[in-house]
Amino acid sequence: MHQRLAILTSGGDAPGMNAALRAATLGAIQRGWTVIGVQHGYKGLIEADFRQLDPEDVSHLVREGGTILGSARCLEFHERAGRDVARQRLAEARIESLLVIGGNGSLTGANRLAAPEELGEQVLNVIGVPASIDNDVGLTSMAIGVDTAMNTIVEACDKITDTASAHDRTFVVEVMGRDCGYLAMATSVAAGAQVVLFRESGKDPAELVAEVAGAVKAAQQRDDRHVLVIKAEGVNLENSELRRIVEEQCGAEVRITVLGHVVRGGRPSAFDRLMASRLGYVAARAAMAGETRQMIAWTPPRIVLPDTARRSELDPRCWLVPLDEMLAETRRVLDGTSPVAQWRVKVFDEIEDVLRL
Ligand code: ADP
Repeated sequence: MHQRLAILTSGGDAPGMNAALRAATLGAIQRGWTVIGVQHGYKGLIEADFRQLDPEDVSHLVREGGTILGSARCLEFHERAGRDVARQRLAEARIESLLVIGGNGSLTGANRLAAPEELGEQVLNVIGVPASIDNDVGLTSMAIGVDTAMNTIVEACDKITDTASAHDRTFVVEVMGRDCGYLAMATSVAAGAQVVLFRESGKDPAELVAEVAGAVKAAQQRDDRHVLVIKAEGVNLENSELRRIVEEQCGAEVRITVLGHVVRGGRPSAFDRLMASRLGYVAARAAMAGETRQMIAWTPPRIVLPDTARRSELDPRCWLVPLDEMLAETRRVLDGTSPVAQWRVKVFDEIEDVLRL
């Protein structure tokens, strides 16, 4: 086997991608492998936009947000023809091992790139590393970037709460998460919000508005009249509508803050640096050992762990889970049939009234 490992980052960027890249690169170089960085995700793979990575290229990266390799969306990769070109580029560069650091879309692409029915005779070992601030990747308890994003949101909410309490206002903070409300749910607890609105609750817009209005009215009965509402991006309710109705019904001032891409940025938290480094290192070692079509998961939830999941011998927090099974579980998380998704909704059913007190 050629001892050449390629690494790419793809899809939405997440703080900690660089730390994973660094650990994987250093781990492979230390064992005598050559590491090739692929720039701009699958687009760079198709265009053979490769460069060799040396220790000095990555050694400082643990603290850097974003990804030095760049990320890009690549429509061609959805098609077999695009993936054929990518495989040819890898063969030309004598690369038989590839790490893909990215979210669900990227890992779907990784799984297809290494699918036996498309590979033919070519040898190509592909390992995925979950990176997505939304925490919407199945079979891993955390993806790279989630912890940093949560810290950013909590910090913003703390600041907003200061001004909200000074003026007795209601603040609605919208956070990223189109299909998965995890960030909103987790930060509502961590930031001490009174209400959290997320798609998975299955509530219709009228119910969601009633929840916010109920919390505002309850706060009006008390001295402490500010209300913090965290709303996931994927909730089917216009911010302007929510504001208008609550202001009309409660006579309260409502302010909307959309955190948007701020949540993606910044230096990774200590936890993201550590977890990304461990996932990246185990991923490199797995690819070098000839494993393929696996994702390296961080302590996958027991309730969904398939029989095919294997604990890494290098790191007890890391597991190898087949990409096929991870993608199937991701679909269940997103359509609400996963026990993990159901558990989250159940927890919030139970604590919603507690949050408001
Ligand atoms: P993320 O990885 O953050 O979920 P995207 O969904 O945008 O981000 O996916 C990133 C890239 O992965 C896409 O631009 C495309 O090149 C590739 N990709 C996504 N979905 C698929 C798919 N179903 N088949 C093949 N490649 C895909």
